[in-house]
Amino acid sequence: MTLDDFEPEAGCAGLFDTHAHLSYLDGRGINAEKLVPALFKAGFTGIIDVGTTAGDLAERMRAFSRFEHVRFSAGLWPHKEFLSCPERQLALLEQDIDTVPAGSVVAVGECGFDRRENPEPSGAERELLERQLDLARRRGLPVIIHSREAPAETIETLAAYPDVGGIIHCFSYGSSEARAFLDMGYYISFAGNISFKNAGALRETLKSVPLDRLLLETDSPYLAPEPYRGKPSHPGMIMQSYRRTAELLKIDIEELKERLRRNAAQVFNLRDVPA
Ligand SMILES: [Zn+2]
Repeated sequence: MTLDDFEPEAGCAGLFDTHAHLSYLDGRGINAEKLVPALFKAGFTGIIDVGTTAGDLAERMRAFSRFEHVRFSAGLWPHKEFLSCPERQLALLEQDIDTVPAGSVVAVGECGFDRRENPEPSGAERELLERQLDLARRRGLPVIIHSREAPAETIETLAAYPDVGGIIHCFSYGSSEARAFLDMGYYISFAGNISFKNAGALRETLKSVPLDRLLLETDSPYLAPEPYRGKPSHPGMIMQSYRRTAELLKIDIEELKERLRRNAAQVFNLRDVPA
């Protein structure tokens, strides 16, 4: 699905994408500045544009803050190059948040652990996350947690910050890990990979998450759902995940939209999500 053959469907009304990287879309051949208004015209209710580096916020806001229902997070993904100087990166990140109008940033993240980027667990990766948990606490914001192949470390680190909450994004673990995050008050967000043929276990995990703690996301331009697997994804493709989830949970898709919209409003503390 390229932008040219993407026709927002009538069913787009009420959808919310809690995790997208809008500024990466252009580089993948998707004109986000055309796509985003088309989605809102079709009734989309929100997109969270997620940050990964210090210094990216002003540029993202320049491109997308004119769309009322695009909100922004700011955070440091556990890139190798950030681990050698977490203090400096954190200072830059705080500067980013202080430079934009108050209230523009609705979450800290994405931040966390990635055992493919950093195969050896290191104190530096944990420190970078802890600093961002501390930042979230000081600013009264939720965190967006990235956790790949590091469930135990993630659970242990988050447990030390019981007054911070947020989202475990692109959830990839089993039901017992989901339970541990839920018990700490976190929301669990699933991406387009729930539609993949070999993702039966992940679909079972999704079914175990209470409806009042569930979120859906595209993580665009990554993880395009079936039948677009392997292509760059964009927020419009979240329709596939809503359909699949409604089927799995055996609930009406309109009810699912309403519940997830409420969850997004709650976790990001949004007062004006359209119905
Ligand atoms: Zn992401």
